[in-house]
Formats: sequence, structure tokens, C-alpha cells
Amino acid sequence: MKRILVTGGAGFLGSHLCDLLLAEGNEVLCVDNFFTGRRKNIHHLLDSKNFEFLRHDVTMPLYVEVDEIYNLACPASPIHYQFDPVQTTKTSVLGAINMLGLAKRLKIKILQASTSEVYGDPEVHPQPESYKGSVSVTGPRACYDEGKRCAETLFFDYHRQHKLNIKVMRIFNTYGPRMHPSDGRVVSNFIVQALKGEDITIFGDGKQTRSFCYVSDLIAGMHKLMNSPSSFIGPVNIGNPVEFTMLELAENVLELTGSKSKLKFLPLPQDDPMQRKPVIDLAKKELGWEPRMQLREGLKETIAYFEEVLQEEHV
Ligand code: NAD
Ligand code: UDP
Ligand code: UDP
Repeated sequence: MKRILVTGGAGFLGSHLCDLLLAEGNEVLCVDNFFTGRRKNIHHLLDSKNFEFLRHDVTMPLYVEVDEIYNLACPASPIHYQFDPVQTTKTSVLGAINMLGLAKRLKIKILQASTSEVYGDPEVHPQPESYKGSVSVTGPRACYDEGKRCAETLFFDYHRQHKLNIKVMRIFNTYGPRMHPSDGRVVSNFIVQALKGEDITIFGDGKQTRSFCYVSDLIAGMHKLMNSPSSFIGPVNIGNPVEFTMLELAENVLELTGSKSKLKFLPLPQDDPMQRKPVIDLAKKELGWEPRMQLREGLKETIAYFEEVLQEEHV
């Protein structure tokens, strides 16, 4: 049994990770400042003797004793990370420095939740880990993209300079229960709009693509990466390579909810990537991992979750 630190543990992905680590018999220290995370996501864990919550901002130093670190703290949805862009960069960069400093002092393994956004608006399709990316340095998404790129640099430099045991994971669009209803990401937006009978907001012409991974597949990949041989450090893409246009996603959501919502076309946000799809050969080879959940099955689970949330919260 290990004592494992999960930063961002009250968020969408972090709370599912806490569930898995506790189910395995570990102790979990969940650190979160509730910027986008919610008490509701970890409420069911508060009575567990192996679960501890600490409200803390990772841009500040953290002195605790743990055996392993998963660093997930960072807003992930464009509307949230652009709300306070300076804080977003601080969270990625200072948060990484502090967690790496903690890992260095304790001589423990640390995993970074990086992102497909390091590839920016990609000119290479699909994206292998070797693609260096096409990121606007000055655009509205840069606080997130460049912050995450710098965090990856820090991870690799701590590895080379201080022999730290690191794991870097590039997460592609992930969805599922516990996404925030006003998170602003496309899957939660479309489902909430469909369930409320509101217009489905399509940005641009809806022909841009994303590849959606269900949360349980993603968390399984993250756990496999953390427990892979120390010679394998990544970066490794974890995502579902089945690609959809936003129009196809909207059609699926409308059909599965039986909603009569209409499509409403709005301007495409600046620097919005036109296409995204991971090459997952490395994850298959090194981790024996590939996603299992098909989009329609994952959407059904997510729709059921949001039906409950909308009833409870009257939103
Ligand atoms: P989320 O917004 O639900 O979770 C992020 C969590 O981090 C929240 O609980 C938030 O309160 C916390 N947080 C933010 N700033 C903090 C700070 N300064 N100190 C402490 N806690 C802080 O998002 P998520 O989808 O669960 O994403 C988790 C991680 O995975 C993020 O690092 C994100 O960049 C990465 N990621 C997610 C996706 C995805 O599709 N979900 C894709 C790529 C990368
Ligand atoms: N740090 C931390 N917890 C620790 C050890 C370090 O939060 O247990 C932070 C501390 O703020 C420090 C940063 O991590 O500034 C980087 O640590 P490192 O040892 O790499 O750098 P240094 O302390 O030499 O600046
Ligand atoms: N999008 C959309 N309608 C929405 C929210 C998002 O058409 O209500 C589009 C957005 O422009 C992007 C895609 O869906 O092309 C995915 O957006 P999301 O914010 O979920 O993730 P990211 O852009 O970070 O991949």
C-alpha cells in the first residue's frame, strides 16, 4: 500500500483517479484549490479512512510525505483556463516546479498530465509523439498550451539533471461523468443543451474534428503509465483514435437524448484546432493499452449522469 498524492484530485479526471487508487488499497492525499473542481466529486470519499483532502494551491510550495505523485492540477476547459490566463500559466509552471521539487526531495516517481494541446493546431494528422506541434505563442490558448509545454520541459530537465523518475502523458479529449455541467467543453455543452431543449451551439461550421476518450479508459492508461518500467518515461499519447466532426457528435447526442434541440452556428474561437486525433502505437506497445469504450456507449453513461445532475441542481 502506497500513500499517493493526486493534485487536481477534486476535478473530473482527478476524482476518478482517486477512486481507482483507493479501490486498489492505497492511501490518497487529494490536493485541490476548487478552482474548477467540486466537493461533490469527492464527497463519496470523505468518510474513507484512506482518503485525505487538502485545500491548497499548487503554485505555493507543498511539504508533505508521500510515495508517488500524479500532477493533474490545472483548469482544462478553454473557458476556464482563459478566465485567468496568468494564473493558468502559473499553475502549470510553478505547480510543476513545486511538485517536481517535492518529488526530488522525497526521491519519488511523478506523473504529469500533459495534453494534446502541446501539438497546437496541428499540421500533421494524426499526431504522433514525435510531432513538435504548431502552437501560437501569443494567442488566447497559449496560457494553457505553452504552460503545459514548459511543464513537460521541466519534467525532462528534472529527469536529466536530478535523475528524477518521471512519466509524461499527453491526454487527448476525454469525457464522462463528473464533468462540470458548465465546464464549457463540447461534450458537456451538447448534452446539457440537448437535455434542456436549448440550441446546440456549434462553433464554426462544425466540420472540425476531435477524438473522444471515455474517462475509465483514460484513467486505466494513466495508471498503466505510472506503473510501467522506469525506463519508459514518455511522452505518450493517451486517447481514443476514432475521430468525429462536431456535427457528428451533435447528431449522436440528439439521437441518444431524443432531444428536439436545434443547431445554432456561432463563430469559431481564435486558434481553435481544426483536427485532432492521436497515434497510440506507443501506448499499445509500451503499456499494452488501448481504449475500449465506443463513443455512443460512453455518451449514454454521460447523458445518464447529466440527467441526474440537472434534476439535483435545477440548472
Ligand atoms: P478539471 O478542471 O475538472 O480538473 C482540474 C482540477 O485542478 C480541478 O479540480 C481544479 O480545481 C484543480 N486546480 C486548478 N488549478 C489549481 C491550483 N492552482 N492548485 C490546486 N488545484 C488546482 O479538469 P480535468 O479534465 O479533470 O483535467 C485534469 C488534468 O488533465 C489537467 O491537468 C488537464 O490539463 C489534463 N487534461 C485533461 C483533458 C481532458 O479532456 N479532460 C485533456 C488534456 C489534458
Ligand atoms: N518544494 C516543495 N516541496 C518540497 C520541496 C520543494 O514545494 O518538499 C518546492 C520549493 O518551493 C522549491 C521548488 O519545489 O522552490 C523546487 O525545488 P528544487 O529543490 O528543485 O529547487 P530549489 O529548492 O533548489 O529552488
Ligand atoms: N465546440 C463547439 N460548441 C461548444 C463547445 C465547443 O462547437 O459548445 C467546439 C470547439 O470549437 C472545438 C471542439 O468543439 O472545436 C472541442 O472543444 P472543447 O472545448 O471541448 O475542447 P478543445 O478545443 O480543447 O479540444
